[in-house]
Amino acid sequence: QSVVNKIAAGEIIIAPANALKEMLENSIDAGSTNIQVVAKDGGIKVLQISDNGSGVMKDDLPILCQRFTTSKLSTFEDLGSLNTYGFRGEALASISHIAHLSILTKTKDSPCAWACHYSQGKLVPAKAGESPGPKPIAGKNGTQITVENLFYNFSSRLKSLKSSNEEFIKILEVVQKYAIHTANVGFSVKKLGESHNSLTIRESQNIKERIRAVYSSSVANNIIPIESQDMAEIGLKEVNGQISNLNYNANKKKAQVVFFINNRLVDCDPLKKSLLNIYSAYLPKGAKPFVYLSLSINPAQLDVNIHPTKKEVRFLHEEEIIDFVCQIVQSALSNVDD
Ligand code: ADP
Ligand code: MG
Repeated sequence: QSVVNKIAAGEIIIAPANALKEMLENSIDAGSTNIQVVAKDGGIKVLQISDNGSGVMKDDLPILCQRFTTSKLSTFEDLGSLNTYGFRGEALASISHIAHLSILTKTKDSPCAWACHYSQGKLVPAKAGESPGPKPIAGKNGTQITVENLFYNFSSRLKSLKSSNEEFIKILEVVQKYAIHTANVGFSVKKLGESHNSLTIRESQNIKERIRAVYSSSVANNIIPIESQDMAEIGLKEVNGQISNLNYNANKKKAQVVFFINNRLVDCDPLKKSLLNIYSAYLPKGAKPFVYLSLSINPAQLDVNIHPTKKEVRFLHEEEIIDFVCQIVQSALSNVDD
């Protein structure tokens, strides 16, 4: 059984950045306004995330890392109104099967914080001979989750990881994208033991300031806001975003194309291709645009059965939605051109 759990977990979490994305979404879902990430060895030795969100109640702690433990879906009918999709109550469980997970958490009504350690989905003692938690401890409101020795029991996964530096960059990029997308939340990322942050976004910074901090002044200064609402007939409720105009021409750099659907960072290659195609009609060869788009789609139209590691998302009326988004982008670009 434990081998099956481990292999299943290793399909969901293939690198530290996958674990971080899940934990980051949990912190955001918990209503945090400040989220700090610390990593050692690219998040392989230590990956720690601290937030000031709702915290977890003591009684929920013993089952926190059991599969399908979720506070986000009480009845099946909730499915339609849910903003998350695909993958419920499996993230922490999966992580606990391929790493050592510990949590320090306090709700605002609890007199103290609680500390727990988990392995293979279960509460375990911090030290041999001790009783398994939750243990009372002093702490602030919010949650700190520490993941240590990722893939300690999964050598093939461990071997397939890139260098610590590359894994750290992947972590950083996930946080950067959520920082652009999530207004009114501050974020920081640093390597364990280093005094300077690799990323600092203050809660009060607006989207333009965030784009400047994450990318560059030249991106931030050459940006057009995108906004459109209610294409009910194709299930598209809202499109928001920021896209680079035609003056921005960051040669040689990678194109930055960032999509959020219903507040989850996703890949959507058909949409990406179509958008880059529009730009290529305007920009010189090799010029790389910046595109950040946030789509709100009727959850009933998203494919919730897609495998969780495939960030690639599928949805109904895909062609119509892509056409619609492309039209908005096209007209935004040609207006600036005039
Ligand atoms: P899901 O997010 O799909 O519910 P997870 O395995 O990611 O499943 O998390 C399980 C549960 O643990 C969540 O539903 C939530 O109740 C709780 N949880 C996880 N992280 C946090 C956090 N940072 N703050 C508060 N609650 C959390
Ligand atoms: Mg989650």
